[in-house]
Amino acid sequence: PEKNGPPMPWFGMDIGGTLTKLVYFEPRETNRREIDKETEVLKNIRRYLTRNSAYGKTGRRDVHLQMDNVTIRGRRGTLHFIRFPTSEVGAFLQLARSKGMADLVNTIYATGGGAYKFEEDFIKEVNMRLSKMDELDPPYAEPALSQYVRKPFDFSHPYPFLLVNIGSGVSLLVVNSPENFYRVSGTSLGGGTFLGLCCLLTGCSSFEEAISLAASGDNTTVDKLIRDIYGGDYTRFGLPGDLVASSFGHMCSADRRAKVSREDLARATLVTITNNIGSIARLCASNERIERVVFCGNFLRVNPLSMKLLSYAMSYWSKGALKALFLEHEGYFGAVGCLLNLDT
Ligand code: ADP
Repeated sequence: PEKNGPPMPWFGMDIGGTLTKLVYFEPRETNRREIDKETEVLKNIRRYLTRNSAYGKTGRRDVHLQMDNVTIRGRRGTLHFIRFPTSEVGAFLQLARSKGMADLVNTIYATGGGAYKFEEDFIKEVNMRLSKMDELDPPYAEPALSQYVRKPFDFSHPYPFLLVNIGSGVSLLVVNSPENFYRVSGTSLGGGTFLGLCCLLTGCSSFEEAISLAASGDNTTVDKLIRDIYGGDYTRFGLPGDLVASSFGHMCSADRRAKVSREDLARATLVTITNNIGSIARLCASNERIERVVFCGNFLRVNPLSMKLLSYAMSYWSKGALKALFLEHEGYFGAVGCLLNLDT
């Protein structure tokens, strides 16, 4: 390594699920010696990257973000911010080859799922190594969704518990005793959101229809998964490849939209709403140090899929510490409470 850091050019890259972001440091020569040192290839790269504000049809340089006069590792220069769709990574590699970049750079400091997914392409196409974070713990093993079964739970000593009422909207309450309870959180993304979005996206007209569409659908044609972005598991953070990374993330593509079915859209809507609620419930439970989470509300009516997803989410994200509990009379607890209050 040289006194002033690695040899030029200096890049940082973030290969995301949708966009690839490239930051390029353009050094400002301070003396004759440094100008002479800049090779033809470096000049080429610099000219190419700094002259155009558009690269081909899809690349963009965000000129308004440009930072002049920054000092990095003792060198003064300009930072350029460039982005292009990750679907164009192949074209970028060809460009890197044609500009001779690959002869100069053997390591790119990269992050984002694509740093894993495209690792081999970078080596094969341009002989560039992607330097990224090391891998850590393997994911926590959890039974598959299909293995979740209904089991009775002894609730004779119920307190404390977290109550998650999934109606049109969602409320979360900490319940310490019949008299001691308070609302800790909520979200407007609830059962009404599921039904409303489903009606819009699939043309269905009832909750039952929405649920039965969802039951036969496949959300992986709609949602972008960890593996779609990383090429596999994201083991550094223990994220399995089949986890949803971006709900509805595939629907930015016109091709994908043209092929998607009503069933798949209903399924993705259900999974999106359910997982979001599961995530909020889990955060509240761990914040309040409560292990039992009771779900109710009519969103769970005739909806075993959401119950399985919630059970899975509770257990998975807490490494088995949290329990999701469901009530046979899911939607009726408000009415039951009124009834019980009659004689008080
Ligand atoms: P709220 O008190 O807000 O009306 P509920 O607990 O009754 O809440 O739940 C309403 C949600 O239950 C709806 O948004 C929908 O997702 C779901 N649901 C279940 N069955 C039906 C149904 N027959 N008609 C409408 N929505 C239903």
